[in-house]
This record gives sequence, C-alpha cells and structure tokens, in this order.
Amino acid sequence: MAKIFCVANQKGGVGKTTTTVNLAAGLAKVGQRVLMVDLDPQGNATMGSGVDKRQLPLSVYDVLLESASIAEARAQSDKLKAGGCSYDILGSNRELAGAEVELVEVERRDRRLKSALAAVDADYDFVLIDCPPSLSMLTLNGLCSAHGVIVPMQCEYFALEGLTDLVNTIKQVKANLNPDLQLIGLLRVMFDPRITLQQQVSDQLKAHFGDKVFDTVIPRNVRLAEAPSYGVPGVVFDPSSKGAQAFVAFAQEMVQRIQKI
Ligand code: ADP
Ligand code: MG
Repeated sequence: MAKIFCVANQKGGVGKTTTTVNLAAGLAKVGQRVLMVDLDPQGNATMGSGVDKRQLPLSVYDVLLESASIAEARAQSDKLKAGGCSYDILGSNRELAGAEVELVEVERRDRRLKSALAAVDADYDFVLIDCPPSLSMLTLNGLCSAHGVIVPMQCEYFALEGLTDLVNTIKQVKANLNPDLQLIGLLRVMFDPRITLQQQVSDQLKAHFGDKVFDTVIPRNVRLAEAPSYGVPGVVFDPSSKGAQAFVAFAQEMVQRIQKI
C-alpha cells in the first residue's frame, strides 16, 4: 500500500516544492516507487521534474474533475531517468486555478484526489503531494488523501506563528474529514547554523514538537536553487552537493519513519 504525504505550509517560498521534488528523487534513488502530485497551479514541481507544464495533454486538473484517471494523466521525465532517480509525475498548470471554482458545485469535492489515488495504490510505495501556499480546496484535497503531512520550515521567528494555524488545520481535517491524517514531521530547511536566531528557533522547535522534528536538516545550498532552471531536482543536478546529500538522508529517514506509522 502506498504511503501518501502532503508537503504543506500555507506560506509561500518556504521550500515546499524543493522538498517535494528532492524527496521524490531521493526516495527513487533508494529504490522506492514514487508518484509526485503537483497540486499548485504554479506548476513549479512539474517543471522542476522535467515536465513542461505548458504541454501537458492531461493534468491533475482533469483528475480532479474526473475526466481522466491518474493512469492516463501521469507523465515521466527523460531527465529524471537519465539521472537514475525516476518517479512518475501528475503535473499541473494554470488550468488548475479554475478547479477551485469548478469544484464548488460538485459532490465529494474534497475527496476527488483520494478516490483517484486509490486506483493506482498498488503502483507506488510513496505518493508526495506538493501543496499550494494556502489552505484552499486544493490543499484540502491533498489533506483528505494523505496519511500525513510533512511541513518544511525555515527557522525564523514568524515560522512558529504560521505553524499554529497549520497544526490547527491538520487537527480539524483529522476530526472531520480524514481520521488517518497525522503531522509526520517538521523539516528544517534552508538552514544556516551560523545564524544564532536559526539555532534558537531550531531549539524551540525541538523543545515544543520533540520527535516530530525530523533529524535531517536541509542546509541552505545554492545547488538546490539552481537545479529547477535545468528541470531537475538538486538530487539529480548535483548529487555530491550538500543539499542533495541532505535530501537523500531525508529520504532514508522517511523510509525508516513510515515503518512506525
Ligand atoms: P515553496 O514551494 O514553498 O513556495 P520553493 O521550494 O519554491 O518554496 O523555494 C523557494 C525558493 O527558495 C526557490 O527559489 C528555491 O530554489 C529556494 N530554495 C529552497 N530550498 C533551498 C535551500 N535549501 N537552499 C537554497 N535555496 C533554496
Ligand atoms: Mg511551491
């Protein structure tokens, strides 16, 4: 059975997409079968996996509106294959922004993705869902489909504030819509140990959330930021970089953790 995780944080620019594509590549590298679902109309995870969002014959939009199955809409990327870290991609583009409005009228509107994923469950060990920076109907579809949430965060003062909202949302979804949903963990990203405030926030996180804070820390690393312009995750772009190595270590940590879920 596939384990399904949302990568979510209602703030933009915190590293959700970087986490999703690099964790997907890292998991593929350690032999896991992975589907990456791009639920953000910006389509950054799609492009960052080597699939052109402007040329998608079918996308997650068609899946949410039930005009295509995931088996029909999923894509693969030659660049990922060449890098030896291949995973399947359910892509998105601007069309998905319209789904928000179109879904208002339909039945089971928050369960569309869950039903679609059930049909491909046997094909994967992991499904990773890159969520948009909001707590919208799209994110809700992600949260209703998932076993757990991975929250990337920068160790800054305001990061803690936003976290309370997200933790409350997860609790509400768990109570009302998806009893399986768990906060899997907080992933410290873009971390710079030389910055005292980051160390302090990191210590506060550990004091407050305990083992919900992943052991792996993702450093600030320019190779991770450069990789998307080549249409690959950092794990493929420069496997020897500190950032890539951290994401492979994180993939291994996730494989260990799911045995306890
Ligand atoms: P989100 O999906 O939450 O909006 P992104 O993953 O797109 O965030 O990251 C925002 C920006 O930060 C991007 O330009 C990305 O390349 C950069 N970035 C993300 N993680 C790192 C990192 N560990 N080191 C350096 N740059 C990073
Ligand atoms: Mg993003």
